[in-house]
Amino acid sequence: MVRPGLRGVGKVRKRTPGGRIATRFVRGFSHPKCGRCGSVLHGTASGSSSEVRALKHSERAPSRMYAGVLCADCVDSLVRYVVRMEAKFSEPELKSFEFSRDLTLEKFLPAGWWGRVQEGSLLWNRVESKFSKKKVASVKEAAPKEKPAKKAAKEKPKAHAKKAAKAKAKAKKK
Ligand SMILES: [Zn+2]
Repeated sequence: MVRPGLRGVGKVRKRTPGGRIATRFVRGFSHPKCGRCGSVLHGTASGSSSEVRALKHSERAPSRMYAGVLCADCVDSLVRYVVRMEAKFSEPELKSFEFSRDLTLEKFLPAGWWGRVQEGSLLWNRVESKFSKKKVASVKEAAPKEKPAKKAAKEKPKAHAKKAAKAKAKAKKK
């Protein structure tokens, strides 16, 4: 009788150094799958933990957010879901929009996200930082640089508005 622990495991017949043909049991490893839809995750390594460990870090999974956890489509819908929900509760104009809750996506967000979103806090940066600490550091460094750019962006529409007003005034004069 086959040992119960070895049932459902692949068998390979191999010749031993002593010349005897022995049955070796080979365990199969499924490919990593998306935690939400179950589709196969591309670019991820499969095999025993020792086999995966032997690979380079870049060969194990892509470097994007939720790599090795969710497929690209599910990450896309997760980002859209978070942005929509955060916009709904942070912007008073959007409160009337009805976005239904999707717990299959919220499962992959940090604990207490829903409660904090209802208070109007924006957590998307924190979600990103959970998966890429390096990027957050760069964002912090770039933060003071971004502020003048934002001011410039705000001034530009004003300049456009002034130009438009001038053009309107000219048109009125004519
Ligand atoms: Zn998926």
